[in-house]
Parts: sequence; structure tokens; C-alpha cells
Amino acid sequence: MKKIVVKVGSSIIAPSGKLNNSLVEALVKDVLEAQKLGFKVILVSSGAIACGADKLELRKKPNDTAHLMALASLGQIILMDAYTAQFKKHTRACAQILLTWDDFDNRKRFLNARNTINKLLSLDIIPIINENDAISFDEIKFGDNDRLSALVGDLVRAQTLIILSDVPGLMDKDKIIDTVTKIDEKISALVKTKGKAFTSGGMSTKLEAGKIATCSGIKMIIASGHTERVISRIVGGENLGTTFLAQDAVCKARKRWIAFSKKIKGKIYVDTGAKEAVLNHGKSLLCVGIIRTEQDFKRGDSVEVLDENENILGCGIVNYSSDELANCRSKKFEKEVIHRNNFVKKQ
Ligand code: GLU
Repeated sequence: MKKIVVKVGSSIIAPSGKLNNSLVEALVKDVLEAQKLGFKVILVSSGAIACGADKLELRKKPNDTAHLMALASLGQIILMDAYTAQFKKHTRACAQILLTWDDFDNRKRFLNARNTINKLLSLDIIPIINENDAISFDEIKFGDNDRLSALVGDLVRAQTLIILSDVPGLMDKDKIIDTVTKIDEKISALVKTKGKAFTSGGMSTKLEAGKIATCSGIKMIIASGHTERVISRIVGGENLGTTFLAQDAVCKARKRWIAFSKKIKGKIYVDTGAKEAVLNHGKSLLCVGIIRTEQDFKRGDSVEVLDENENILGCGIVNYSSDELANCRSKKFEKEVIHRNNFVKKQ
């Protein structure tokens, strides 16, 4: 059976910081309708922090991490209560899975999450996923559910990712773009960021999600969560919102894992010779080409590789720690720092 991942943003489910119960009701009906059309739906839902803040009658999202983590912990059960009550009306059940970046970085946990989601689907239970905000901070944090939903799409091998937002799709001035074949610089330039009280993403993280999804062979659609029966109409073949087509040349699973699931821990700046070797000749990155490193990283971590002008060339898994690489150029250290199979060019 085909799987679809549906991401619901805070701007939809909890506009101005208050849970919109009638939206949850309509969403649940729509999910069940899509199921009748032969699709297994996995929901990625935001709204925990907003629900927590609403319970404490806060008007604005606080800035400090401890406060946000506590609000997420408080709000997550309120959010799940709302979903549970709506699914119960249809004598159906939903289940909660909370994930952090670590769960994608660690192969065992990644497979465990996949097995649990698949088991839930086989039991006809709707998995509802959110970031485990109560414990995620700094390096294990996604920060937005857009990327999380794309990684979940890859995790479950979904056919389609639908991102429901408060905008009708990707806009070019006031015209909606129907189809995007590739998220290139022209497409990225269309994005404007605007701050809202309880949301985290905006269009730029949606495009990041789009790169992950389409490169994983998953079609992504950004559509308005206010459109009636939006999910079942999309899976039924209607053309709503903006469709980002899946890339033909799907990156290999390992390269996808390196590029998207491993958190970047540091930076390596390389000279023109090394740039040419890794980008155009498929060579490994050698120590002699390294100008300097930034941040602390360990052997096996993922780092960004940049040229002297700060252009990102790609990312890869390092064979040496930042300490071992300190002053390596002057030491004429010839070792291979990133093997070519562990390097992924920027998309
Ligand atoms: N995980 C956050 C929450 O449930 C939302 C993050 C986002 O809006 O993307 O409040």
C-alpha cells in the first residue's frame, strides 16, 4: 500500500497560539478518507509548544530553551488528546512517536523507528510524529518539522509528502507556482522569511525539506491546510498547491544518510586544488588540501566542506578529528580525510 506523510504546521493547527479543534476534526476525517482511497497516512504534527503556551496563557513564544522544552512537554499531551478524541469518534486509534536528530543519525534507532511505524500501519493505527522537543536541544535538534517530515518520508519510503501550510503553495509574486522540477537557485530566490509568533519554519525550511524529499525519490506538495479535504483531493489526483517532482536520479541511501540525516558538526575549508579534485574528479579529500577547520568534530562526524570564498561544496564523514587535523597542512600530513564514497556534493 502506498504511504503518504502529511506535515501539519503550527500556523495551521494552532494559529495565534491556540489549538484549532475544528481543523483537527476536519484533518482526521480527511486522513481517513485518504485511507479509503488506498493510502496509509503518517502525520507529522506541530503544535506542542503552542498548546503548552496556550495552557499557561502566554501570548508570545518564550526565547529560553528550558521554557520551550517544558512547554512542549506540557503541550504534546494536549495535542495528542485532541487527535485521540477525533480518531475515537471514527472508532480509530492514533499513536505518538517523538523523534530527535539522533534517531536518524543512529542506524539502529532509525531501523527501530521504521519498524514501529510500519507495525502501527499494519495494525491500522495512525502514527503521529513530532520532534521530541522536551529533550532535544542544540546538536540533536531539528528545530522545524519540515525537515523532520521529509526524513520521515525517506524513513518509511513514502510515495508523497504533503506539507500543509497557511500559504497556498510556493508563490512567485502573487502567482502560485504549479510545478517545480528542480529546487535550484531561481526557486530558492523566491523565498521570503517572515516571523510569526509560534511557527519555526517558513518557506525556506520547506524548500530544504523539498531537497531531501525529491532527492529521495519522493514527490512533495505544499498546499494550504485550509483547503477543504486537501489530503484526499491531492491523493485522488487533484492538482492543488505546488508540486515538487521527485528527482529521477535518486541518491543512494548511504549518500542520503550522509547528506541529510547526519547532523553537521564542523567545517573544513579547502584550497582550489582540493576543490577541483573532490568536485570534478571524484577524488577523496586529502589533508594537504585543507586550509583550516572550524568547530570541534570527532572521527566519524559529518562536516561541511567549503572553498576559500565560503561556498559550500558538499559534506562528508571525516576520518580524523578536528584536533588531529589542526595544522595538518604544515605537517604535510598526506592522509585521506574524507573518502570519496563518504562525500556528497551540494545539491
Ligand atoms: N515541534 C514543534 C511543536 O510541536 C514545532 C516545530 C515546527 O513548527 O516546525 O511545537
